[in-house]
Amino acid sequence: MRHQLQALAELQSVDLVVRELDIALEEIPKKVRELERDVDRVRQLLERERAELADAERTHRDAEIELQSQNEQLVRSKTKATIARNQKEYEASQRELESVRKSLGEREADMMKLMQAIETFRASIRQHESEFEELRKVLDAEDLEARRKMAELEAKKATFAGDRKAIGDRVKPHILRRYEMIRQKRGIALAETRDGTCLACHMQIPPQLYNILQRCESMELCPNCNRIIYWKDGKSEV
Ligand SMILES: [Zn+2]
Repeated sequence: MRHQLQALAELQSVDLVVRELDIALEEIPKKVRELERDVDRVRQLLERERAELADAERTHRDAEIELQSQNEQLVRSKTKATIARNQKEYEASQRELESVRKSLGEREADMMKLMQAIETFRASIRQHESEFEELRKVLDAEDLEARRKMAELEAKKATFAGDRKAIGDRVKPHILRRYEMIRQKRGIALAETRDGTCLACHMQIPPQLYNILQRCESMELCPNCNRIIYWKDGKSEV
């Protein structure tokens, strides 16, 4: 039984390493996914800003046409003022001129605001475009590094598969089955005992069972956590 337990301990150390590798293999792509989400966020932001800019530019063009026609109106109103035949017509043309000038002033102020908005959009887009490029570069580099690292871990994992098979072959099938069953349920199937205590669940083991364990003649389970337990005397491996 000592050899069986020793093999199980070796098996467990391989399983623990493989479990670490699996955790790392799951973690590595998460960082890349996160960066992809960042890149996507900036991409969507840019799309929104470009649409807003196009809107503002369209409004600006419309306002320009409107300004043009009001300028023409101003010329007509001025002409009218010069050909006024009496005081009444003259005053009416002056009021019309005043109103056209006011409207022109408002239109010019609107256009000024629109130009400022367009400039702000353009500056923001330029900044987000460079952020986007920067993020894309980081993402590409991280992606490459993640692929390299994962291939490395997969290769490492593959070498452990061979080790695991060789160790498993040394364990009797029914013991191996029990080990696998407990491992599926509890992650760790084999627990050392020290000073009468199971080191996995930290519960005391009945003294009689502890005596049996020290003889290393049978496979015993912790009465509390149901893991396979063994006693290490400090001289042997298990
Ligand atoms: Zn236990």
